[in-house]
Amino acid sequence: MVNCYVHAEASSVGTCVGCGKFICENCNTEIKRKNYCKSCVDELFDDSKRKIERLEDNMNKNQPMVFMNAGGASSSSSSSSSAAVGNEGQAFGLTKSKTTAGLLAIFLGGLGIHKFYLGKWGWGILYILFCWTYIPSLIGLIEGIIYLVSNQNNFARKYDPGFLR
Ligand SMILES: [Zn+2]
Ligand SMILES: [Zn+2]
Repeated sequence: MVNCYVHAEASSVGTCVGCGKFICENCNTEIKRKNYCKSCVDELFDDSKRKIERLEDNMNKNQPMVFMNAGGASSSSSSSSSAAVGNEGQAFGLTKSKTTAGLLAIFLGGLGIHKFYLGKWGWGILYILFCWTYIPSLIGLIEGIIYLVSNQNNFARKYDPGFLR
């Protein structure tokens, strides 16, 4: 009978599948019905830890991309989202800013200024004609909020005449 390679006085119960050494009951660690010695278990854990660290590294590297998409969708954080919008604007050939359109709609929506800004002259004139009813300002306010909460890409696709489809 071969004895454990750690404990010379203890008889082995099997061999480690990692290193092939004989191990006793004390040293044996069963993982997925395979026997491992203590040092191989340690190595396994180190290995998986390293894999997890590598995974976290990759996630950190990818985060700016994820953040850019999130920034475009939420538009709540002003400085970071405007930077993202700038990049996307260049990439997609945008001519109109949803923030400008949104603010114009909210503050000057009753005069249809946002419609002029977006190149919808007919609508702009209609807004001016009906500005005394206050309905255009109400619609403008709602439109402004829609512009501001919408994603820059969706906004551009719907409202930007200069958007390269
Ligand atoms: Zn081993
Ligand atoms: Zn042992």
